[in-house]
Amino acid sequence: MIRSHVHVNPGRERLRGALYRAQGGRCGLCGARLRNMLAVTLDHVVPRALGGSFHGNLLAAHLQCNVKKADRAPTGCELIWLAAVNAIIPNPERLA
Ligand SMILES: [Zn+2]
Repeated sequence: MIRSHVHVNPGRERLRGALYRAQGGRCGLCGARLRNMLAVTLDHVVPRALGGSFHGNLLAAHLQCNVKKADRAPTGCELIWLAAVNAIIPNPERLA
């Protein structure tokens, strides 16, 4: 039996969709189109390991970009994306 490793949470799905739209359907880490919503992950721009919070700290990103980024610090590019997204969705945590 094949089971999805992705735990589906309605609030999380709503947040993912909102971030996807706020980013114009593009990955917050590489800027390329997010073609498959099933492969879209939420990236903590400032990693939790580096003291990042949940609030105003999320971007939609390709699974492979998120895995590659892991716990490194954000680049300027990601911070610009994050500022743009936070301007569109001031309180993303309310969606989750
Ligand atoms: Zn990407």
